[in-house]
Amino acid sequence: MDPGILCFHHCEHKVFCTIIPEQCPVCKQTLDRYDYNLLPFRVPYPFVKASQHPRAIVMKPTHGDFLNDYYNSKDLHIGVTNSLGFVVEFSEDGIKGVDPASRKWSSIGCSIDWDQCLLLEQFDELWNEIWDGVLLKMSLTPLWEADQYNEERHNCFTFVLAFLRALDCGELSEKAEDPKLFCKQYVVPRTSAAGKYISLYRQLKRQSYFIQNQ
Ligand SMILES: [Zn+2]
Repeated sequence: MDPGILCFHHCEHKVFCTIIPEQCPVCKQTLDRYDYNLLPFRVPYPFVKASQHPRAIVMKPTHGDFLNDYYNSKDLHIGVTNSLGFVVEFSEDGIKGVDPASRKWSSIGCSIDWDQCLLLEQFDELWNEIWDGVLLKMSLTPLWEADQYNEERHNCFTFVLAFLRALDCGELSEKAEDPKLFCKQYVVPRTSAAGKYISLYRQLKRQSYFIQNQ
């Protein structure tokens, strides 16, 4: 999943690429790939697989993936992973990740497209029991049935914020009282960091290098 974007420094420029070239694309000088003066590093890939992050709040674009399809924060979808890493999410189809008949977790109908998402927050194992208990109980209430869905007022965000409030875990629960504050503090910093990576990725899809003055 990680496209492996690299960055190196030369002649007062920062060069982003996927393969360190033989010549500097700016000054044309021959490069030694192993020269530590180039300070090469791999640009950190900002996305994770939800299944590898139990007890977490995760976000992805409503359609498609971040690298190729994401446009702005209006397109975001948010969900919660349980202690097994299953995503529980609310959409116009109601709740996914929980089966109301058996009142148990269900991976059936659970979207497989949470392999490139942003991690907003992850809790440690000590929370397993409380986290799963609150999540399961809340998911089974009629409030989250498909006919309750409203794109503006009762959506995936409403579900996640209600879960965080019910969790009663201190600061995060307090911030979840105010959707705007929650977005400002937890969503915007992640999406803007990811936005920089996304634009680099898209530049490097069109051209071999992206050059920045230092
Ligand atoms: Zn150069």
